[in-house]
This record gives sequence, structure tokens and C-alpha cells, in this order.
Amino acid sequence: GVALPVPDKQVDSVCPYCGVGCQLTYNVKDDKILFVEGRDGPANHGRLCVKGRYGFDYAHHPQRLTKPLIRRADAPKVPHQTIDPDRVLDYFREASWEEALELAGSKLRGIRDTKGPNALVGFGSAKGSNEEAYLFQKLVRTGFRTNNVDHCTRLCHASSVSALLEGIGSGAVSNPVMDVTKAEVIIVIGANPTVNHPVAATWMKNAAKNGTKLIVMDPRKSDLTRLAYRHLQFKPDTDVAMLNALMHVIVHEGLVAKEFIEDRTTGYEDLKKNLVGYSPEEMAPICGIDAETLRETARLYATSKGSMILWGMGVSQHVHGTDNARCLIALSLMTGQIGRPGTGLHPLRGQNNVQGASDAGLIPMMFPDYQKVADPEARARFEKHWKLKPGTLDAQPGLTVVEVMHAIAAGKVHGMYIMGENPAMSDPDANHAREALAKLEHLVVQDIFLTETACLADVVLPASAFPEKTGTFTNTDRLVQLGRQAVNPPGDAKQDLWIIQEIARRVGLDWNYGHVSEVFDEMRHGMPSISGITWDRLERESAVTYPCTHEGDPGEPVVFIDDFPREGGRAQFVPADIIPAAERPDTEYPMVLITGRQLEHWHTGSMTRRATVLDAIEPDPVALVHPLDLERLGVKPGELLTIESRRGKVTLYGRADETSPRGAVFVPFCYYEAAINRVTNDAFDPVAKIPELKYCAIRITAGGTP
Ligand code: SF4
Repeated sequence: GVALPVPDKQVDSVCPYCGVGCQLTYNVKDDKILFVEGRDGPANHGRLCVKGRYGFDYAHHPQRLTKPLIRRADAPKVPHQTIDPDRVLDYFREASWEEALELAGSKLRGIRDTKGPNALVGFGSAKGSNEEAYLFQKLVRTGFRTNNVDHCTRLCHASSVSALLEGIGSGAVSNPVMDVTKAEVIIVIGANPTVNHPVAATWMKNAAKNGTKLIVMDPRKSDLTRLAYRHLQFKPDTDVAMLNALMHVIVHEGLVAKEFIEDRTTGYEDLKKNLVGYSPEEMAPICGIDAETLRETARLYATSKGSMILWGMGVSQHVHGTDNARCLIALSLMTGQIGRPGTGLHPLRGQNNVQGASDAGLIPMMFPDYQKVADPEARARFEKHWKLKPGTLDAQPGLTVVEVMHAIAAGKVHGMYIMGENPAMSDPDANHAREALAKLEHLVVQDIFLTETACLADVVLPASAFPEKTGTFTNTDRLVQLGRQAVNPPGDAKQDLWIIQEIARRVGLDWNYGHVSEVFDEMRHGMPSISGITWDRLERESAVTYPCTHEGDPGEPVVFIDDFPREGGRAQFVPADIIPAAERPDTEYPMVLITGRQLEHWHTGSMTRRATVLDAIEPDPVALVHPLDLERLGVKPGELLTIESRRGKVTLYGRADETSPRGAVFVPFCYYEAAINRVTNDAFDPVAKIPELKYCAIRITAGGTP
């Protein structure tokens, strides 16, 4: 037989994909990853899903960027798919780091000095480490001198975080995923964990098999529904109607936790009044769930010894995303199902570091640890921490992701620095986003591949892939974990921390960070929630949960046991009413589009579509359509169809799929050849500015040209 290569080293790290935060080991030979194994981390206990196990060889892909690139003066800013990967040098020329950094830095500095700080924007990444997120936002706030800094949290849980901060004073989860094994009832709403949080889903399945009542609430069927005690397949966009009906039952049947409400909350009477018009009988025809099922579900949730709610983008990505989350919070508060093991609220984080990047201040309205930029005391604290003159930091919250694209179109933003994000693929109404990015006077993109966004850049800076760097990453459970460098970046590609620092120097900052641990140390001293976590401890233990407020603090996996981090320690009920989706189906566009992810692919596909095994399993863009809808359209499974909205159209392959209800179509957003975000709507939730990626009106026709 053939002798398999033997690794020459093993490096303990974490998975670069989802927020579950599985710990793994890279097996390396000759600076190449041979294979990956799961190890015994708190979130995975040795388990890995297909992405974590097989999605690693993108790091060694021949299309990796290995030299800085500068756009040729005469090269048009054309969409990605028109650039042949072998003809990149028709559009860009290779440059030295010195030349590329000097050009990037001087242009950004020039825009700041002539057009004002708010003419600049930085987008960081939820794929980068906490240290990268922290330094990036510090660069934007102190070097660009604006709060115009954001990242893809805006597209995922911004609404959940707004509602949680408002209601219970903290945007993170109250209990870890593993608490599903201690709960009697689990509600999973607007989430498809077997696809998006696969290892977390295995713990939910184990719990269901051991007798926990799993209630799945979702307009689509998922793999998890096979094990569910109940699947409430409510009509898309009717979350508030259904959740208010559940609360109506709890109030009217006297199932509320009176003492908990009296001792630990405010605003209950207003909520109760608001629920009057939401009886199960009145809501049943709206949400499509019969009154008796609503009653039974409400009773189960309210009366169990421990009920836990976990949710995903199906809740958050709506113009009423904040209201949806407010209802979930109210449900847990009125029944006292929070503050104990096996209860609580868990918005399942998507990216491996979306929790940490937000914690580190990569958002336009908050400094690290959610200290508001508008608060003079918070500004004074960070001015001292960053050794700035008093009054330097801007008090005005910055622009969010979707607002930035409109501000460019309106001629208010002229320069951008994008690190590891791909808004040309991920932003709603992507045609508009691409036009905006192409219109910028100066765009600097730092990435590992020439992404759809990098194609529109003036300067492209080649960065490191996940296994090529060391840093901390915070998972969905508030677990800060250490990712360790296993291999070196290819060619002249550099560490992201180094690149951020070089840009910072060129916009006038005098930074001299050495090891990543120096950045972590500065960060933790500005963030009370992680101030007790030391680098040494991370090296020893690999993972520490926050809040961890002093050295030696074991960390708290379950929070809100005695009080909430709000005024007087009390949580706040916030009532919600029905607000319809921004764009409803009509005769011209009669169907509904739902976007999301597939098991094998990650977000905009730049990594997983270059991972051999994952790409082999799901190589082509597909739309999941109910078989009866396909038949009506005259499309056989595997044939092409065209999806069109008022904003754009794409052509892709139809797949017969009974998990979507009739009239609704599900499309993953990872395929550049059929970028579905050219079709989606950029209407957003007024509170959290999160776009309505889970609902817009479309029509489908048979055929089309891919
Ligand atoms: Fe990675 Fe998430 Fe899969 Fe775990 S469940 S291996 S963190 S993608």
C-alpha cells in the first residue's frame, strides 16, 4: 500500500468557521496542513463538522494573494467574474510592501485631511482575532478620527444585540449551548443549527433523544425537526404575532413568574396591556399555527423546570428583527426562565469571532465592551487608556454597513479600508453596493484572495489565513479561546496585525506593538468583562469564559443569576407590535426569497469554495424550491431557473426541496456566479440597521443564462 505522510508537528487551535468554536489540532508537514482532528474543547468534546474537518486546504490554494497589488491607472473597476484568475495582472500590477503601504496610507490620510474624518470608513472582520478587531477599531477611531467602523455583525445579530442590551443590559448569551443538556424544554427559532452550527446541533439532538422536549419554530423544515416534539411551521414574517400569542396565553392562564417579575423586572404592566389584542384565536390565521398548539407550547415553555431559547438569523434579519428578539426576551422574563442552568437566551453566533469582534469595539456606536461613544465618561476613559488628549474622540456614532453604501452614493464617503470582509457579495442589494465601492476615490482591501470586493480596490494587501496566525477568538458561549499559528503565510503575505500597524503609522500614529499578547494585554485593561483573562492563562488553558473580572476568576458560563447589568439590576420588558416586511409579494413578484447558508459552504464562499472536499460536495449555485412550485414553473430538478426582484436577477440550478414552504425559495449566498444578494432588499430594521435578508419579493422563470 501507499504510505501516508506522517505529520512533523501538531498545533492546537480552533476552527475558523462558525461561532460554536470547536477546538482542533492541525497536523502539519513541511509547512502544509495534512489533516485536522477535533480535540476536547468545552464546546465540542472532540467533535468537528465537515467544514472544521475538511475545510482547511483553502490556505494552500494557488489563488492566494502573495504580493501587494496596485490597480493599473487605466484598469476599469469591473465585477469579479469578468476577471480571469490568470489575468489579474491585466488589472493590477505587483508592488513592494513599501510602495503599496505608502500609497494606501497617503491616500487615506489625504482624504481625511481634505474632506474630513467622516469621509473615511473602515470595515473589519468577524473572521479576524480579537486583537485584530481591537487594533482596527482603534486605528479608525484614533487615526482616521471617526466612528465609521463596522463589520458583518450588522448583517447577522445586530438586532438581537440591540434588544438584549436594551432589555437585559448585555448583548451576549446568558447560557452556553451545552446547557441544552440540562433543559426540559428547548425552543429553537429561526435557526438551522444542523447546517449552521453543526456540532452545537449534535448536543441538541442528544438532549432530544434523552427526553428534552425540542420545539422548533421555523417557516422551513430542518433536519432538527425530525427529532422535534413540535415543529411550529409559522408563516414567514409572522414571528411577533406568534410570540405575542404565546405570551397572551401565559398571562391569561396565570403562568407568569410573579415573584421574578416583581423582584427583577420593570415594564410588565405595559407589556401585559399590549398583549390584549394577541389572543391565540386572533393570531392563528395570521401566523398559521392553530390556537391549541400555541396554548400547549406556551404552557410547556412556562411550566418546565428549565426552558431555553436559541435563535438565529431567521429572527434577526428582518425590519422587525429587534421586535422579534424583544418578544423572546419578554417570554423568558415573564416566566423566570433565565438566570439558572438549562434556561436563558442564546442567539447562536455565526462567525467564529463575531462575538469577540463586537466585544472589541468593531461597531460604530460602541467602544470596546459596549461602552457608548456618545457617553462622555466612556470617551474620557478611552482617551486616557489610549493616551490621547481630552476631547479627541468623536462623540457621534458612525455609519453602519448598509448606511455606508448609501453615503458613498451620496458623495459623503470617499475612502475605505476593508480588512477581510466581502461586502460586494454579502451586502443586500449587492449591485448597488458594488457600484458604490467602485465609485470610491480610494479603496484599500486586505485579504487572502482577490475577492469580489478586492477586485474593486485600488490597493490590495495580501494577508494571513486563519492557520497562519496566533490570536484569541470568542465563541457563541462567551468563551475566549486561543488560535495558534500552524503554518507560515505564503510568499510576501503578512500578518494582519502587522499590516494594520503599518497603515496606522502612515496615517500618523506612533504604534509599536510587538507580540500579539501586547495587544491582548492593552485590550483587556480597557474591557472589564475580560480583564481577569491573562495571556499566560490562555496559553495554559486554551479557553476561558467571560465575565472574568479578576485574575483567578474562573469565569461565568451562566449569568444573570442574581441581577441584570441594568439600572437597579432589573430587566426591562419592551412590547412589540406587528410590522410587516418592507417588500411583500404582489402580482408582479409573487414569491418570497429567504437567503442563508449551506452546511458545506461558508458565507461568501471565498474560503470553502477553495477547499477541495467542500467544493466537491456542493460545486454549483442552487435554489431550493418546493417540488410543486418547480412543477408549476415547468422546471425539472437540476435545470436552470432565473430569480428576479426589483433590484437584480441571477440564474442558478433548481433543486426540489420540501423543506421550504410553497411560495418561498431558499438560496445560499456563497456563489459569486449567482450572487443572490444582487436580488435581496436593503431595507433595514430602524433600531439595529440590520437588513431584511430573510424576506423580499421575487419572481421565478424557467431557464436563463448563468
Ligand atoms: Fe467549525 Fe462550527 Fe463545524 Fe465546529 S461546528 S467544526 S466550529 S464549523
